[in-house]
Amino acid sequence: MKNSIHEECGVFGIYTKESSYDAATSCYFALYALQHRGQESCGIAVNDRGLIKCHKEIGLVSKAFNDEKIKALGHSNMAIGHVRYSTTGTTVVENAQPLFIKHHKGPLALAHNGNITNAQELRQKLESKGAIFHSSSDSEVIAYAITSNRLKTNSIEEAIKKTMKIIKGAYSLVLMSAQKLIAVRDTIGFRPLCMGKTKDGSIMFASESCAFSIVGGEFIRDVKPGEIIVIKDGIITSDETFCKRKPKLCIFEYVYFSRPDSVIEKNSVYKARLESGKILARECPANADVVVGVPDSGLIAAKGFSEESKIKYCDGFIKNKYIGRSFIEPTQSMRENVVKIKLNAIKPNVEGKKVVMIDDSIVRGTTCKRIVKILKNAGAKEVHVRIACPPFKNPCYFGTDIDSRDNLIACKMSLEEITNFIGADSLGFLSLNGLKKIVDTNNVDFCVGCFNGKYPEAPPKEPLKNKFDKKIELKGKIL
Ligand code: SF4
Repeated sequence: MKNSIHEECGVFGIYTKESSYDAATSCYFALYALQHRGQESCGIAVNDRGLIKCHKEIGLVSKAFNDEKIKALGHSNMAIGHVRYSTTGTTVVENAQPLFIKHHKGPLALAHNGNITNAQELRQKLESKGAIFHSSSDSEVIAYAITSNRLKTNSIEEAIKKTMKIIKGAYSLVLMSAQKLIAVRDTIGFRPLCMGKTKDGSIMFASESCAFSIVGGEFIRDVKPGEIIVIKDGIITSDETFCKRKPKLCIFEYVYFSRPDSVIEKNSVYKARLESGKILARECPANADVVVGVPDSGLIAAKGFSEESKIKYCDGFIKNKYIGRSFIEPTQSMRENVVKIKLNAIKPNVEGKKVVMIDDSIVRGTTCKRIVKILKNAGAKEVHVRIACPPFKNPCYFGTDIDSRDNLIACKMSLEEITNFIGADSLGFLSLNGLKKIVDTNNVDFCVGCFNGKYPEAPPKEPLKNKFDKKIELKGKIL
């Protein structure tokens, strides 16, 4: 059972005219910058004059790659990379990306961020025609659909367009064929995808603009929802055939998923978080001595709350930076102490004080309850919890793991009941109208489905996560 929401995935691609370029190293650094979007597995595929090589592993970029592994990928003029958090399919290396397919018209490597809502139906159709899948992720359904269309068409662009007519849901893709680097964003634009360039003229695509500066590059523009951008022989072409629907970017990218130094659809993530805190202070004021933020994503909103309310901001917590994925999951009786290992209060800042505690969201409420207790144990006289987004009332089907109403405390309890459950002296959430004002809406419209249940695209009939794994296990038993 989840206590918090997890990021989705991060994708990156780079193209340069120089065949002796070290595209793998650029990709490696960019994946470090995108690591916050997925920590389960990662991979890099490089293109050495039409020959694609790929390395992927379970774990963080720092574990999966070292100097030797990067050198083994060799010099190349194109590379794509991926960091993964599984929203469909389990954490096994078969599900790690980039996916790599060889067919008689050439190779294809693909990196995907998002969730395909009709993956199950498409997979069944493809399997009934003889398709054999090696992974349990929805991304392989996209790769297979593009490949089977490529066998019947004259170009990868045509194959992608045919595939875009049948796949539904969220997909920001970076693909690599023998000669081309391609970026594709779904017609709604749920997940971000942007384009950048380096000083030497290399072109890059990334989930977030923070990946560009790490390789000495800069942001050019966002890939438009529905757009297909192709780079071949240094020439960039854009196809906007599918740019006809009203875009609806996931608003939670600004609240939690994206890095504060990223800019998405012309809006700074940092400024959006600061603004969320300011609006929260106007909508849900509190009588307090200090404002603290829950690290990391509550910190900027806490600064905004402090600026607006004129209540002093201070560091309420210290976060242990050295807890990695190998940290042993505790037994129920140990969980409280474990939260203290991850996070502890800075006593002199909160002792004897009325504290406003800002966090980005509440999922089950159990983590929030423990953090309130940490503050009270450190001597806080009162703890007023303020949340920088509205209550989650619905699952997400578009690339995050908000997947069941059973896990959402706001579906089961009233505001008063949640306040009592988490042990706070008061509780307030940012309103949906307030949330929509955190960015300049002239630039973009938003998906807010997990807050109001109105999705820009029909949800799947059943949740997708691990669907295909169950099927594989069942087949294994029968055989
Ligand atoms: S449902 Fe919520 S988390 Fe999912 S894409 Fe829409 S706003 Fe984002």
